[in-house]
Formats: sequence, C-alpha cells, structure tokens
Amino acid sequence: MSVLETKSAGEQYVKSVYETVKKRNPNEPEFHQAVKEILESLTPVFDKHPQYMEEGILERIVEPERQLMFRVPWTDDAGRVHVNRGFRFEFNSAIGPYKGGLRFHPSVNASIIKFLGFEQIFKNSLTGQPIGGGKGGSDFDPKGKSDREVMRFCQSFMTELAKHIGPDTDVPAGDIGVGGREIGYMFGQYKRLQNAFHAGVLTGKAVGYGGSLARTEATGYGTVYFVQEMLQDNGDSFEGKTVVVSGSGNVAIYAIQKATELGAKVVACSDSNGYIYDKNGIDLDTVKRLKEVERKRISDYVNEHPEADYFEGCENIWLIPCDIALPCATQNEINESSAKILVTNGVKAVGEGANMPSTLEAINVFLENGVLFGPAKAANAGGVAVSALEMAQNSARISWSFEEVDAKLHQIMVNIYKNSKQASEEYGCPGNLVVGSNIAGFLKVADAMIAQGLV
Ligand code: NDP
Repeated sequence: MSVLETKSAGEQYVKSVYETVKKRNPNEPEFHQAVKEILESLTPVFDKHPQYMEEGILERIVEPERQLMFRVPWTDDAGRVHVNRGFRFEFNSAIGPYKGGLRFHPSVNASIIKFLGFEQIFKNSLTGQPIGGGKGGSDFDPKGKSDREVMRFCQSFMTELAKHIGPDTDVPAGDIGVGGREIGYMFGQYKRLQNAFHAGVLTGKAVGYGGSLARTEATGYGTVYFVQEMLQDNGDSFEGKTVVVSGSGNVAIYAIQKATELGAKVVACSDSNGYIYDKNGIDLDTVKRLKEVERKRISDYVNEHPEADYFEGCENIWLIPCDIALPCATQNEINESSAKILVTNGVKAVGEGANMPSTLEAINVFLENGVLFGPAKAANAGGVAVSALEMAQNSARISWSFEEVDAKLHQIMVNIYKNSKQASEEYGCPGNLVVGSNIAGFLKVADAMIAQGLV
C-alpha cells in the first residue's frame, strides 16, 4: 500500500491544495508556512464534512480575491526621489469588507503580506465581527525619517490605495511601522481625494476625528485577556508571575501595561536591535516615552535605569527564565531552540501578540510539553476586533467610553477562547488552540462562501 493510500480523504485534499500553493506562489516561504499551519489543522473538518471539499473551499480561500502592487514615488527633505513598492492583498470578503493592517517595514514583500492577509481571514472571523480579510503595506522604512518625509510617503501611498478601498469595501488599519501619525496622514489624503469625510475608511484614527477609545491598547490588552482566560481555565493567574515580552511597539507596550496591572512582573522587552532586562520590573513610563514620544532605541532605557542591562541582538531574550512569554515583535522570532529553552526554564503559558512569532517547530515544542499556547490569530485578535468596533461607531456617528470598549474587548477575547477550545474538543484535539482557532474561524467563512455561490 502506498503512503498516499494510508491518508484520509481530508489529508489528501489538504496536501494537494498545499502543493498547488507552493507551485503557484514560488519563493514565498512565510505564505507557505501560514498555509501549512492552517490547512493541516483543518484536516478533521474535511473528513467530517466532505461538502467543503466538493465546493472547492480550500482552493478558493488560498487565492486572494484581488492582489494590488503599485509604485510609491516620494521625495526626501533634500528633494531626492525615492521609489518604494506598495501592496494591498484583498483576500476574502465572504463575511464583510476586507479588513487588516498596513505594515511599513523594509522586510515587506509579497510573501509577508500574503501570509498576514491569509491569517487575517480566520482571525477576523473568530472575533465574531462582520469583517473579511486583507493586508497591505510597503517596504518603506519610517525609522529615521522626518515627519514631513513620512507625510509625503503616506500621501503618495494613499493616492494609489484610495482607488481600491472604502468604508464598505476595504478598511485598512495600522501594523508594524504604521501608528497614529501614519494613519492621520493617510486619512487626510483620502479625504482630500474623495472630497468626503468617510470616517470608516481607516481604523486606528486619533480619537478627535473618529478613532475609538481603547483601540491603541486593544491588541496588547486583548493578548493578556486571552492568556488570563487560558490561565484561569487551568486554575492559574498572572498574579506574581514573571513575564518576558518581546518588542516595545504598540502591542508590546499595552501587553506590558495590562500584565503588570494583573499582578505580574515584566522583566524584559526589546526592539529590533536588542533587549533590556530589568530585574525590578520594566518601568513602562520610560519605555513609552522613549518609543512613542522620542522615537528612540530601547538601549536608551539603561541610561535612565542603570540597574537594568542591555543586550545587543534580540533572539536571546528567550533565554531569560519566565512563567509567561508574550512575543509581540514580529514573525518567526521564536524558533525551535528558543522554545526548548523556554520549556526548560519552566514557561507555563505563551500568548502570541505578534503575527506568527513562533515557527511551526516551536509551536510543536510548546504543545508537546503541555505549555498553554495562545496562537496569534486568537490571542492578538483584540486589535482588529476593536477596529470593527471603531467602524461600528463611525457608522452610527457615536463614541463609546473607554470602559465600554474595553469591556466589549474583554468579552470578545473570552468568547474567542471558549469557541477555540470548544472546536478543539469537537474535532478531536482537546486543548489544542491552534487547531481549535483555525477550525472555528474557518467554518463561518466557508459556510458564507457556500451560501454566496461560486464567486
Ligand atoms: P510596532 O511597529 O509598533 O512595533 C514593533 C516592535 O517590534 C518594535 O519594537 C520593533 O522594533 C520590533 N520589531 C519589528 N521588526 C522586528 C524584527 N524584524 N526583529 C525584531 N524586532 C522587530 O508594531 P506593532 O506593535 O503594531 O506590531 C507588532 C506585531 O503585532 C506584528 O507582528 C503585528 O503584525 C502584530 N499585530 C499588531 C496589531 C496592532 O493592532 N498593532 C494587531 C495584531 C497583530 P524597532 O522599533 O526596532 O523596529
């Protein structure tokens, strides 16, 4: 009997779609990685419900509905011309307008945007909000640029992007390198081009012109709420725990804040140059000022806190013993050997604030060693969930209080945990939230795709 014959129909189906993805999208390793993780965990669904195979759901869902790549010319303060590449991949609109962030970072390419856009379909579905999946960005690096340079870039980027987005079509938000400043410049340009104030075209806006309270905090807070739920369900809590957080951007800062509020001590955080270790617990006010206001490096922290240490390079942050690890920087920042070290040092829970921060091998190490593992698409879904709440407020032309939005966010994260756990049990992998969150996110989108016919 051949190896193929021993596989179930679901396994064969998943394998054949994955092979086609690799062939059709060569040299896109991050996209392949995300597709592999999701497709493999969906196998039990196809064995139980062959209808999804007959409807060709996987073949359709791995192919973006639309892929945009465009030239973004801009001039620096000295008048020199630069050209960057812009992307927007509109992946799936079965349950709502495309929704997902824009990333500005020199590493951005089609593979990165595709992996993020693909993951976004399932994450957005999991939130229970009516939003489809998309992602975009550019290989532009905002670091070291003046405000005026960033503004000119954003205006040029939006001049093309505006033709393809809209409050009921595609609603971008922030991601790495895109915060309130960049969203503001892009919103201004969109408004100018449309001659209309469509508040709902971008989320992550400042509160004064249509932003939602608690959107800035949402991804970091949401990640901690998710981990809190995992811990509580296993008779544990953040109280008295030692926590390591990677990154020192939007997600990391508010994860540190909420974990500290819940009684944990966060002893380390990082940026793309290195990490700091403060045995007394990170002083968040210093980090916030350095990163959000002064746009400085994390190494500057030790100038103000000589008791802390700075280490060049970011991988070794996972050598620091901790009870809870919250990777909140970027993709593939925890590999197999870092995962093994975390396990040896006694890590109890890992919550992914960043997108795909753990490699497939690292995830297996966590699962095999009984670490409570909150995968990105569940654990960091709070950001996009509050973006959807921002859209709802924009549509209704009202603003909810911080407490109202925070309470809704908390409830959404609890629901995501419960639904993921329930799906993991229903499909034979109890407690495996990777499988559970993928299946729970998939089913709603797949059913909507079937209901809407072959589109
Ligand atoms: P920010 O740009 O605010 O912060 C990113 C942080 O990660 C910075 O400290 C940055 O350091 C560090 N970083 C970036 N690239 C690398 C790298 N290659 N190696 C090491 N460190 C790096 O981004 P966010 O906080 O918004 O995003 C962080 C992660 O969370 C991303 O994976 C993003 O996709 C994900 N996410 C964000 C959401 C949001 O609402 N913002 C929602 C859901 C997920 P430096 O300053 O040196 O660049």
